[in-house]
Amino acid sequence: AKAEGKSRYRLFQPRLSELLISRLTRQAELRLAIDTGQLELHYQPRVLGDSGEMSSMEALVRWRHPSRGLIAPDDFIPLAEENGLIVPLGEQVIAAACAQLAQWKAEGLPVVPLSINVSARQIDDASVSGFLAGCMARHGLDAALIEVEITESATMAAEGAGCGELAAIRALGVKLYVDDFGTGYSSLSQLRRLDMDGLKVDQSFTAQLAGGPEDLAFFTAIVSMAHAIGMRVVAEGVETVEQLRILQALRCDEVQGYYVSPPVPPATAALLLRKRFLF
Ligand code: C2E
Ligand code: CA
Ligand code: CA
Ligand code: CA
Repeated sequence: AKAEGKSRYRLFQPRLSELLISRLTRQAELRLAIDTGQLELHYQPRVLGDSGEMSSMEALVRWRHPSRGLIAPDDFIPLAEENGLIVPLGEQVIAAACAQLAQWKAEGLPVVPLSINVSARQIDDASVSGFLAGCMARHGLDAALIEVEITESATMAAEGAGCGELAAIRALGVKLYVDDFGTGYSSLSQLRRLDMDGLKVDQSFTAQLAGGPEDLAFFTAIVSMAHAIGMRVVAEGVETVEQLRILQALRCDEVQGYYVSPPVPPATAALLLRKRFLF
């Protein structure tokens, strides 16, 4: 048994260094991607629950890799968060979103606010509010045209210095949304203290909506407590008309998901802006 264990260990050795090398390669590749403009933004509309009128668009980053094609954020954002590249990456996302919005405005399109995802690490870095302010000023964008989404866990982590950074973003007039709500452990009082404008309920709760009355109970409770303290509720991951009808009946303020539109490249997003009503 001992010999077996030893040989297994020897077999495992090269795998470990391979993993390390592939990790370092990926890190270097991501650095290069940031420096050479391989990142691009796609946009997913969010609409009012009652009318289907577009209320904002979420900017979602993609990596156009020279040989591997379009890479989804789940395949590189976690790495960027670990090694700190999320800070320059995040700045590029903010700059690109502001530039896109300014371009659409200049083209005379009826723009809606753009919603930008910001990681905990960016909040800790405490330069994101200043960077955002600079971009908005450079492009002459009103604060009402920018929103920021922070995951529920990042929101809760933002107690010390991060809390000041959240307040600084809010002081610009930018609206703050709690992303993936329901997957963390935030309390009402925390959300209230942080002065969040709304909740984006995680798509796992939307997916359960077609079930029985207990499935409705969670959403019903969220909507009533959020409205009681003046927060809006957005349902993520709405894929079917049945889910939409239920959310409308529950007075969910806004919906987002494949039923309305998947994330689309900028040219398609511009067409959706012209259309404006998406139901
Ligand atoms: P998220 O912020 O929760 O974004 C929603 C994700 O769900 C997006 O995946 C979107 O394409 C997908 N989605 C939208 N509607 C539906 C639906 O109806 N059904 C299903 N099954 N999925 C739907 P995506 O674009 O792959 O982004 C994944 C995550 O990567 C995002 O989750 C966000 O946490 C992160 N991310 C994306 N862009 C950025 C960024 O610029 N900065 C940071 N820090 N994170 C980002
Ligand atoms: Ca988001
Ligand atoms: Ca989310
Ligand atoms: Ca998510």
